[in-house]
Amino acid sequence: MPYEPEPSELQVKRARSILRRLKLRYPQIRTALDYRNPFELLTSTIVSAQTTDENVNRAMPALFARYPTPEDLAQANPEEVEQLIYSTGFYRQKTTSILSMATDLVDRFNGVVPDNLDDLVKLRGVGRKTASVVLAEAFNKPAIAVDTHVKRLAGRWDLTSSTDPDKIELDLMAVYPRRQWAGVSMRYIQYGRDVCTAKKPACFDCSLVDLCPFEDKTPAP
Ligand code: SF4
Repeated sequence: MPYEPEPSELQVKRARSILRRLKLRYPQIRTALDYRNPFELLTSTIVSAQTTDENVNRAMPALFARYPTPEDLAQANPEEVEQLIYSTGFYRQKTTSILSMATDLVDRFNGVVPDNLDDLVKLRGVGRKTASVVLAEAFNKPAIAVDTHVKRLAGRWDLTSSTDPDKIELDLMAVYPRRQWAGVSMRYIQYGRDVCTAKKPACFDCSLVDLCPFEDKTPAP
């Protein structure tokens, strides 16, 4: 049976109040990954697994200078690609993923990054999270990407009782109107980096403290 969340009124109210405040704090927000087109964002998002966006931004200009299009990347020498993204870690696995993705893009989509979830996740190396980042950021389409920050914050704010990213995505979609979906993930992620961190969240300095049901709040130092 498909998972169909039924959020309470309180959860909907809390989620929307939180997003309103996050919008005040981050009126304009976009991914910290540098990109010039959907293909670059898709590639960089795959490479960003298990590393920082800064690391990715340092490595990718050389990769895109050498292989600017999906056609170029699909025909790339894997060892050379490994060297170019070596500094981002897990470089062998990431090289396999981006070369497979580029090959699928060329073979199945004429080298054009699709602007819908169903087609994006057909590309090898592309999961729902990566697809949602590309949809929301590059195409401004309604999508919510669930990464480790979104997962943690949604749990602390009692907007989900699941640990499964696909279910958390649906839980969040259920508490926000569709037109707001594209603005959710990046704000959660930034707040998760700035204030509501994994270890010792700065609860004593948090503008959401009155809305937050998390029981294990960090006391003021
Ligand atoms: S009060 Fe603490 S746990 Fe709650 S949102 Fe703020 S930093 Fe996160």
